[in-house]
Amino acid sequence: MIEIIVLILVAAFILEASLEQLNQGSALKKPDPLVADLYDKSGREKSISYGAERNRLSLISGAFSLSLLILALTFGWFAELDRFISNSINNELIISLIFIGLLSVISWWISLPFTLYSTFSIEKRYGFNKTTPKLFISDSIKGTLVSLVIGGPVLALVIWLYQEFQESFWIYAWFLVAAVSLFMFMFGTKLILPLFNKLTPLPNGALKTAISNYCDSQGYSLKNLYVMDGSKRSTKANAFFSGLGKSKTIVLFDTLISKLTQDEIVAVLAHEIGHYKKRHTLASFIASNFQTFAIFALFGWALQYEELSVALGAETPSFHLSALTFFILLTPLQILLGLLNNSLSRKNELAADTFAAETYKRAPMRSALSKISTDSLSNLTPHPLYVAFNYTHPPLVARLRNVG
Ligand SMILES: [Zn+2]
Repeated sequence: MIEIIVLILVAAFILEASLEQLNQGSALKKPDPLVADLYDKSGREKSISYGAERNRLSLISGAFSLSLLILALTFGWFAELDRFISNSINNELIISLIFIGLLSVISWWISLPFTLYSTFSIEKRYGFNKTTPKLFISDSIKGTLVSLVIGGPVLALVIWLYQEFQESFWIYAWFLVAAVSLFMFMFGTKLILPLFNKLTPLPNGALKTAISNYCDSQGYSLKNLYVMDGSKRSTKANAFFSGLGKSKTIVLFDTLISKLTQDEIVAVLAHEIGHYKKRHTLASFIASNFQTFAIFALFGWALQYEELSVALGAETPSFHLSALTFFILLTPLQILLGLLNNSLSRKNELAADTFAAETYKRAPMRSALSKISTDSLSNLTPHPLYVAFNYTHPPLVARLRNVG
């Protein structure tokens, strides 16, 4: 069993590393005439070296975590940690909670040097980073508290359901997780986002009038439109749509507003409204719940096999050790699901672009897409395989061609 686990982890890493390499080579290709003029010589060089640096960091960090994980599996460190906790605590539920909590803390610390290097070295040198060390620390503390407050009780309930219902626990657990994600989907932007960012209503003025006119023409009620101070972390521009029904919300980053013209901003907003009108958010929410349903069903079935815990070196099976093995074994399926979800998402992005071009204007949609891409130094010639595995949005050339 341990050989299969290691094989899966190594294969997944090789796949990821090969895709990164392919993409790195592809970045040097001659861009399509449609986007050839977007970078000048130095801009293009900057974009290539930015991609290369991020690629290198992700390979090093991936190789580092893989090596640690293989060491932990080979030397039975997970079972060791389990024995260590069980020695001082009797309650199965608490043992599982502490085990999973400790693993999350350890993996956070392992990734910390890489996150720090990415934020304070790479992003800073290319002029993107605005996060101060103080903000980084407060973000980390708040992030931990949010996952404790929301994730802790959900996890405790899932484990309790397992102890109560054994094989059939997964259906109740899925129901619980689906209910929590519905709640987060509807109210996450209202409840969680303000802990990290300031959301302010768009002030009255020419931009607001232009946006209101467009929204009226589409019969879209503009109750929740906010400007977010994204500039406190990064200069990169963004916008997103969230929620359902009355909770539907559009958030524009202040960086987007400062970089784009009025027409371009309305085009981006039209794209977000396109996601709503075409029911993309609802559809992907439903699709993701179907996927968790299938994963929970598999999980419930797999938990009856003690081998999952024994493989990690444990004498007595436990929920947390079996869960750990199960989710590693699930990696190939998750890669496949990622391919499927990304392809669906890219299709929706094109549909939202079309919606914006048809219901608003083509030219500003095109220039907004070009500006956002080049401003974030994105690779204009990504490798198609890399795109299939990693891109939730189509490459710029595909989007421009689609807008027409
Ligand atoms: Zn979109």
